[in-house]
Amino acid sequence: MNLKAMENYRTKYRSEVGRFYNGWVHMLSVAIVGILAISYFISQVNQPTLLEWLTLPITILCVNFAEYAAHRWLGHVRTKIGGLFYSRHTGDHHSFFIEDNMPYQSVRDWRVVLFPTYLIFAFLIGLILPMGALLYFVFSANVTFLMAIGGIFGYLFYEVMHFSYHLPNGSFVEKVPVWRELRQLHNLHHRRSIMAKENFNITLPIFDFLLGTLYWEKPRVR
Ligand SMILES: [Zn+2]
Ligand SMILES: [Zn+2]
Repeated sequence: MNLKAMENYRTKYRSEVGRFYNGWVHMLSVAIVGILAISYFISQVNQPTLLEWLTLPITILCVNFAEYAAHRWLGHVRTKIGGLFYSRHTGDHHSFFIEDNMPYQSVRDWRVVLFPTYLIFAFLIGLILPMGALLYFVFSANVTFLMAIGGIFGYLFYEVMHFSYHLPNGSFVEKVPVWRELRQLHNLHHRRSIMAKENFNITLPIFDFLLGTLYWEKPRVR
């Protein structure tokens, strides 16, 4: 895909974004739901033991794997269960942004950067709720709520990091060590020839490292 094809795709995508779409409403609705949920879960934790605290890093590691696995095996492989995600990701997101053409250009472009709002509800109801119920009966209420905190934190962390990689050129992200390297990993992932092979983590490249799909190249001087 060359620049011309990308521009054509952008024009087509933008023409199909609903008239009433508002990027700020989109972003704030996800942020508010996430922050309210996490605040409620924090309020329910009651003096956890050291062992119960372990739930937090374990959950964050699980979310890191989920981010990797969903991106690699559903976002870049056409499957029956992940058809919609595949078309939104490989189809839309990767056609809209190609390597070195990462910034969104208007607030309406946020539609192709952020997950749809309903996904955080699906995540809460479809994943956190049943997992929480299971942990409640097997372990304790603290384990349930610490898992819920880690889960929502991981979700928001993904959204914030991914959004930051698509900020306009010259943003603060390019000046912060580590953060700018993470951004470069995602920039490389947007290279069409390697998008289905390398750099599937969006936050910390833990599973890219463990599973041998971490790919690094220095940023090109523009
Ligand atoms: Zn991206
Ligand atoms: Zn991708």
